[in-house]
Amino acid sequence: MSTLQQLDYSSLQNLHDKTKKEFDAIKQQNLSLNMARGKPSAEQLELSLGLLDSVNSENIGDNYSILNYGMVDGIPEAKALFKKLLEVDTEEILIGGNASLNIMHDLISKALIKGVIDSETPWNTEDKVKFICPVPGYDRHFTICEQYDIEMISVDMLEDGPDMDKVEELVRNDASIKGMWSVPKYSNPEGITYSDDVVERLAKMETKATDFKIFWDNAYAIHNLTDQPPRLKNILEACKKHGNPDRVFMFASTSKMTFPGSGVAVVAASKENINFIKQQLSVQTIGPDKVNQLRHVRFFKNYDNMLEHMKKHAEIMKPKFDTVIEILHSKLDAHDIATWTEPDGGYFISLNTMDNCASEVISLAKEAGVTLTGAGAAFPYGKDPRDRNIRIAPSFPSLEEVEKAIDVLCICIILVSTEKFL
Ligand code: PLP
Repeated sequence: MSTLQQLDYSSLQNLHDKTKKEFDAIKQQNLSLNMARGKPSAEQLELSLGLLDSVNSENIGDNYSILNYGMVDGIPEAKALFKKLLEVDTEEILIGGNASLNIMHDLISKALIKGVIDSETPWNTEDKVKFICPVPGYDRHFTICEQYDIEMISVDMLEDGPDMDKVEELVRNDASIKGMWSVPKYSNPEGITYSDDVVERLAKMETKATDFKIFWDNAYAIHNLTDQPPRLKNILEACKKHGNPDRVFMFASTSKMTFPGSGVAVVAASKENINFIKQQLSVQTIGPDKVNQLRHVRFFKNYDNMLEHMKKHAEIMKPKFDTVIEILHSKLDAHDIATWTEPDGGYFISLNTMDNCASEVISLAKEAGVTLTGAGAAFPYGKDPRDRNIRIAPSFPSLEEVEKAIDVLCICIILVSTEKFL
């Protein structure tokens, strides 16, 4: 079959009319499918139901220090478990509440008001504060910046992480660049894992701001879809080696291992950074939800079990990812009107349409009953400069619904693309 570009006018018109009929027929079905957010499905949540029974009045034992105030940096058993996830020492980790996003938000708001460990003045006493935002990226990171008037500088993601030539040039020359977002493993939305070279360069690059920080959001650290997952280099070790031990804050959580909203979030960093964070946190709270920490410790028991648990998630997720990718190939390959990622883990597939088509595709899909993440969501200020990126989140719907939704998406892509050519 010829690509759209190669088709003559009447073949294009025929394809358009045929696709329009398919679209109209789908509208009659009154579908209501949602692929907007990366939420675990009910089947995935069921994997962790045992967590709810792991702490009760019968088995709490004499853990009264856990039931009481205190231990602002988390219970030792949780530190022992989660330090393995982020490959850090006990003094380099703090176990928080239910959401890593909350810790990130707090760190940034406190940096603005009080500064970070190596700041001469609070960030917001400076004329401007800027963050580097690899794009496409996680919308909620960008929303935090927007909330606090932090200017976002987009840097393109390449195949092995952000464009480091650009990042190095920016941070070397601009003292108002105080931070950078990173989702280093199975990035949201592209599923890219940073290469060793990218990690090294981030750890050693020269920064004009002496209090520059990398927000290393390792949300998908062990959310593998294959048996041979890529290995992410330990950035804290690399930072220490290059004499920048306080450069990075690493985050993770069990939101997508157990229950989003009722999980356990952690931050890891140099011992000095952790002590600094702990001191600030002790003003804010007398202690986190340690009962939930204990629930997680008892449920997982050890790190190997955590990895085994994630394999069960993969058994549910992998067929959905495979289905999306198979349908995209079968419906779109011939037309040469879209490209997409085929990740080894994480929660998303990132699709690029032809330029200036994504918003229209997303609104047509909505008309046909399929809700996708909003156009531009993966870019600072919600503006995708080429209006081409669509984030596909296949976890929440059933396999059957995923199939249907991707069929609809393909129809919308073909419809909008043929209209552009006509
Ligand atoms: N970070 C990334 C990259 C995410 O994709 C998500 C959720 O989708 C989160 C953080 C949210 O994590 P938490 O539930 O721990 O706040």
